[in-house]
Amino acid sequence: MDPLKALADAERGPYWLDSPARPEPAPRLTGHTTADLLVVGGGFSGLWTALMAKERDPSLDVVLLEGRRIGWAATGRNGGFCMATLTHGLANGMERWPEEIDRLERMGVANLDEIERTLWRYRIDCSFERTGELHVATEPWQLDGLNEHLELISELGLDYVPLDRDQVRAELDSPTYLGGLWERSGCAMVDPARLAWGLRDACLRLGVRVHERSPVRSLHDDGTTITLRTPYGTAAARHVALGTGVFPPLLRRLRHFVVPVYDYVLMTEPLTAAQLAEVGWSNRQGVGDSGNQFHYYRLTDDNRILWGGYDAVYYNGGLVKQEYDQRDATFVKLAQHFYATFPQLANVRFSHRWGGVIDTCSRFSAFYGQAHGGRLAYAAGFTGMGVGATRFGANVMLDLLSGERTERTEVRMVKEKPIPFPPEPVRSGVIQFTRWSIARADQHQGRRNLWLRALDRMGLGFDS
Ligand SMILES: Cc1cc2nc3c(=O)[nH]c(=O)nc-3n(C[C@H](O)[C@H](O)[C@H](O)COP(=O)(O)OP(=O)(O)OC[C@H]3O[C@@H](n4cnc5c(N)ncnc54)[C@H](O)[C@@H]3O)c2cc1C
Repeated sequence: MDPLKALADAERGPYWLDSPARPEPAPRLTGHTTADLLVVGGGFSGLWTALMAKERDPSLDVVLLEGRRIGWAATGRNGGFCMATLTHGLANGMERWPEEIDRLERMGVANLDEIERTLWRYRIDCSFERTGELHVATEPWQLDGLNEHLELISELGLDYVPLDRDQVRAELDSPTYLGGLWERSGCAMVDPARLAWGLRDACLRLGVRVHERSPVRSLHDDGTTITLRTPYGTAAARHVALGTGVFPPLLRRLRHFVVPVYDYVLMTEPLTAAQLAEVGWSNRQGVGDSGNQFHYYRLTDDNRILWGGYDAVYYNGGLVKQEYDQRDATFVKLAQHFYATFPQLANVRFSHRWGGVIDTCSRFSAFYGQAHGGRLAYAAGFTGMGVGATRFGANVMLDLLSGERTERTEVRMVKEKPIPFPPEPVRSGVIQFTRWSIARADQHQGRRNLWLRALDRMGLGFDS
């Protein structure tokens, strides 16, 4: 179908948030309140922090402050791939922390297991399906990358199935596939908005005081108590946890480490049984292709296909703006790629199109730290793989605030910071040149130019 025609009636906004299950917002913070712990941010990072703070100590008085609505940002508009990896994939983790990778992988699987147990405990229905992830190669050079990945995962004893061309097409039928690899246990599909709303509900049931539409405008520390000011009220506590993602930070130092990168997504109408039979997909895996610019796609519980990725856009100046959530040129490109991948689905239209902002850092996996004499903790920089890893990040923030040394706080990944980005306008120039080089590598059998190889040597890069 002509992509423009297929997109003509698509809503401009995240499919996941367009749901009758979306709760009414909790009241704004008004007046002055005190608590033991203030959590800023109502995405996955903040929600997990508030929930687990209460689970660790039910007597703790916890207040969560969200500037807009719970889950409205990256948390409610992502692909819903809830991954075990804490390092933005095994290869990235192996390159940066080879001596820790066993431990990081083990902690990541335990984190995903705990997410699953939490869903049972609080009866959170977010269509959790632990289907694993299918990596597919669509160009011969991508098969080499998959083989390298295969070596890594077999060394670590992970559960995987290598698939040749016919086998991968028996799982999911696209004429573009040349081979694949199914990692079976390290990834689950979720409805991210229903997960966020379920966590919100669990927080409320445990007694967390949640305030939405309460943006924190300033932070004041008198040496023992930190006071946060919102437009209509103030809140004070000894401890503060920041789960504020890529938004203008309350702690100035964070702005050197994260940049906003926009990622775009399409959602199809529900497939009929006959359309689904055309592609197979009976094991319902999340799928990622293997270029540097990659697509990710998956089924929803009513058999729509979410189709996202490829263009990862940094807008010069590095601002977060609502108008960037829509990008028609990218939507058309994504639709073209969808039909090229699944020509059998040429009659399927799109129901939703949206974008969202990712907190990219130069090492692609989150970093952690403390300020104000250890009474404030933060976690940021999840770079497009935070649906699962934010729960680990929340645990790290709680460990740091308690002063406890745990297995989590002792790994290098947690102790070390990423290399900061240069200031603007150099930042824009460097990132745009890197994006150009990455696109060129994909067009030239994956060959990386001098610039990308230099960045690789320094352990730097750009990803979504
Ligand atoms: C299009 C897209 C697709 C993605 N796909 C995947 C995927 O499939 N799998 C995966 O693992 N990850 C994916 N991600 C990344 C994932 O969504 C994020 O890593 C994760 O949601 C980060 O959660 P967070 O709570 O840290 O940040 P956010 O969800 O950004 O939440 C931060 C919250 O803090 C609030 N806030 C900020 N400043 C203040 C303040 N001063 N006062 C009050 N509140 C404040 C914001 O309003 C916001 O609600 C994707 C992201 C995008 C955008």
